Amino acid sequence: MNLDLLLYFLRLFLQLALLTVIYYWLMRFLKGKSVLMLAIAWLILYGIVIGMKLSLFEWSMNRITLYLPMIVLVLFPTEIRRIISSMTRFLMPFQPFNRHHRHDFDPDALHTLANSLRNMANTRTGALIAIEQTIDLGGHIQGGKHIDAPLQDNSLLETIFYKGSPLHDGGVIIRKGNIAFASSTFPLGDNASIRDHFGTRHQAAAGLSEETDAIVLVVSEETGDIHIVKNGELELVTDRGKLEKQLSRILGTPLKEEDDTSTWLTHFGILCRARIKILLVRFRNAMRIKNGHG
Ligand code: ATP
Ligand code: MG
Repeated sequence: MNLDLLLYFLRLFLQLALLTVIYYWLMRFLKGKSVLMLAIAWLILYGIVIGMKLSLFEWSMNRITLYLPMIVLVLFPTEIRRIISSMTRFLMPFQPFNRHHRHDFDPDALHTLANSLRNMANTRTGALIAIEQTIDLGGHIQGGKHIDAPLQDNSLLETIFYKGSPLHDGGVIIRKGNIAFASSTFPLGDNASIRDHFGTRHQAAAGLSEETDAIVLVVSEETGDIHIVKNGELELVTDRGKLEKQLSRILGTPLKEEDDTSTWLTHFGILCRARIKILLVRFRNAMRIKNGHG
C-alpha cells in the first residue's frame, strides 16, 4: 500500500517535472514562430500524451485547450491581424464598393513622387512611404503626425525625410495622392531572410505590405537603393530612369502627359542642335577651303 502511494507520488512528481520542462521548451521553441507551428506542436504533444497515458499531462492540456484561443490572441496579435487582413483582401473583389480607388493617385503626384524618390536616393536620405490602396492603413500603423498636404508640393516629401526634420523618423502614409501622415510606426514583418539582410526600415515596409495591400517604397540611407515593396516582397529598382513608368504600372496611374511631350521636345531639340552644329562645321570648312584656294 505504502509502496503504491510512493510510486503514485513519484509518478506525479516526474510528470510535474516533465510538464515544467516541456512547457518551458515549447514556449522557447514557439517564440517568434507562427500560429500554424503552435497548432502542429500542440497536436503532436497531444498525440504523445494520449499514447503514453500521461494523465496529469492530459488533464493540463485539456485545461489549456479551453483557453487556447485567448492564448493565441495574446501571443500572436500580428499574425491574427495578418490573417484577418488576408481574408479581407480575398473578399474585397466581392464587396459592392471599395473605400479607395487606385486612380485617386494622379499623374502629377506620381511624377513628384518619382522625382523625390530619386533625389532622396541620390542624397542617401532614408525614406519609408506607404501608398494606401483599398485597405485603410489607419488600423495597421501607430502614432504619426496628421499632415494632409498634396503630394504635388514638390519638396514636401524630401523635407519630411530630411535628416534634421523632426518628422524624418518613421514612415509616411499617402492617401488619395495626399501626404496623410508622417512619422508613423509600421508593423515589423517577420520574414527571416529580410531580417537577415536588411534593417528595421525595410522590415517595416515588408510588414505593412504583408498585412495590407499597400505599396511601400523604401529609400535606403546606407546604400541609396530604392525598393518597391508589395505583398511582403522587396523589389530593387535597378533603373531609376524607369522608376516613374514602373510606379505607373504598379499603381495603375497614367504617366504625366506633359512628360511624354517634354521628352519628345527635348529629343527634337537635341537633334536640331546637332544638325545645326554639323551644318555650321561643314559651312566653316567649305569657307576655309574656298579662302585657301582663293
Ligand atoms: P537603411 O538602409 O536606410 O539603413 P535599414 O533597413 O537598415 O534602413 P535601419 O537602419 O534600422 O533600417 O533604419 C532605422 C530607421 O528606420 C529608423 O530611424 C526609422 O526612421 C525607420 N524605422 C524603423 N522601424 C520602423 C517602423 N517600425 N516603422 C516606421 N519606421 C521605422
Ligand atoms: Mg540601416
